[in-house]
Amino acid sequence: MSIFANVLQQLKAATQVSKVPASIVEQLQRPERTLTFTLPVVMDNGSVRTFEAYRVQYSSARGPYKGGLRYHPQTNLDEVKSLAFWMAVKCAVVGIPLGGGKGGITVDPKSLSRGELERLTRAFARELVPFIGPDKDVPAPDVNTTPEVMAWVMDEYEKVVGYKAPGVVTGKPLALGGSQGRTPATAQGALYVLSELVQKLRLKPKQITVAVQGMGNVGGIMAQLLHQAGYQVVAMSDSAGGVYNPKGLDVPAVEQFKKQSGSLKGFPGGKQVSNAKLLELPVTVLIPAALENQITGKNAGRIKAKVVFEMANGPTTPEADAKLARRKIIVVPDVLANAGGVTVSYFELVQNLQQYYWSEGEVMAKLKPIMVTAFKQVWQRAEQLKVPLRTAAFVIALERIAQAIEARGEY
Ligand code: NAD
Repeated sequence: MSIFANVLQQLKAATQVSKVPASIVEQLQRPERTLTFTLPVVMDNGSVRTFEAYRVQYSSARGPYKGGLRYHPQTNLDEVKSLAFWMAVKCAVVGIPLGGGKGGITVDPKSLSRGELERLTRAFARELVPFIGPDKDVPAPDVNTTPEVMAWVMDEYEKVVGYKAPGVVTGKPLALGGSQGRTPATAQGALYVLSELVQKLRLKPKQITVAVQGMGNVGGIMAQLLHQAGYQVVAMSDSAGGVYNPKGLDVPAVEQFKKQSGSLKGFPGGKQVSNAKLLELPVTVLIPAALENQITGKNAGRIKAKVVFEMANGPTTPEADAKLARRKIIVVPDVLANAGGVTVSYFELVQNLQQYYWSEGEVMAKLKPIMVTAFKQVWQRAEQLKVPLRTAAFVIALERIAQAIEARGEY
């Protein structure tokens, strides 16, 4: 299934209800620049393995390209292109002055030693040097990439260009100019959005049951924040499967168990559940926080949640979107729900450029109004146009991107 085909369908749905000129829509159907790299890397045993890597610079109309680097065995150009497009939309939805990009390597990082991972990352960074920079294109972490990986990219970049440039990547370790609050930013931003939605639905956190798919930076931290805020997290999972307890999970105990045993198999405080079944549990809110194409035309009819809150990028296909809309299931789209991450990445870039650093309290105080405003604007536009939240978010983003393109004039 081509993910980019889904992107084009989402774009089409938005253009049908927006007044954005056709010539601009046409431009936005393809990235500004697509880069592929071949990376030969010396393995620990002396052999050489060759990896394929990508960077897609989708739109720079509103500012430097911005988006993560993904290391995954299934990562390919189609996926990276789609993720790059969604970044452009996301930055526009929250109104931060950045464009959209994404990159990745087709690799299972778990199969590499730390040294191999570092050499691979540095090889990628050396290839990226002419194309990235604080005013050009700013990578960040995504699936299977960490602050440490960002540190290697920054270090390699600085060595080649010959001066300090911490703003070349975000999501760095604090010791190298990372921002306070960047690690929990995606989840915290999502919680601000969810709280607004919960108020609209006239619900209280303790009445709300939640299933979270994925226990990484996004899903794992979201589950913890939800638990702390009084929501009932009833299911959690990682790539190998999950646990379910209709009475509510002890989230810190689940995290601790996973840390010790490496998976959720045998967790005593709930029964085992597959990732496929987790999606179909009777919960108030379902949070896909792992990978794309989890809710499809095949299983959308069996989703029992009242709200699908997308923290992964692209977890719902257009076919599923249509089925969920018919069943009056609210989908809070990725480009709004998970935009807290890129917003704090933007704050990190601002701090790097200013050489002046903020406390976590200041970061969160600046994040909250951005997320709340974006939610209100998207909600209002959806009501006005009588369209799902995703289409409304896309319409807002298209208008903002189009405004920037038009303001530059003809070329
Ligand atoms: P991560 O690598 O930290 O974690 C990914 C998690 O998903 C892991 O727990 C993994 O076990 C799990 N997983 C993988 N395949 C799965 C499957 N088939 N079923 C269930 N779980 C599975 O990655 P992350 O940073 O948490 O990113 C997760 C998603 O959120 C991605 O779609 C990413 O693009 C998106 N996202 C991340 C950020 C960020 O700040 N990190 C921001 C916005 C969006």
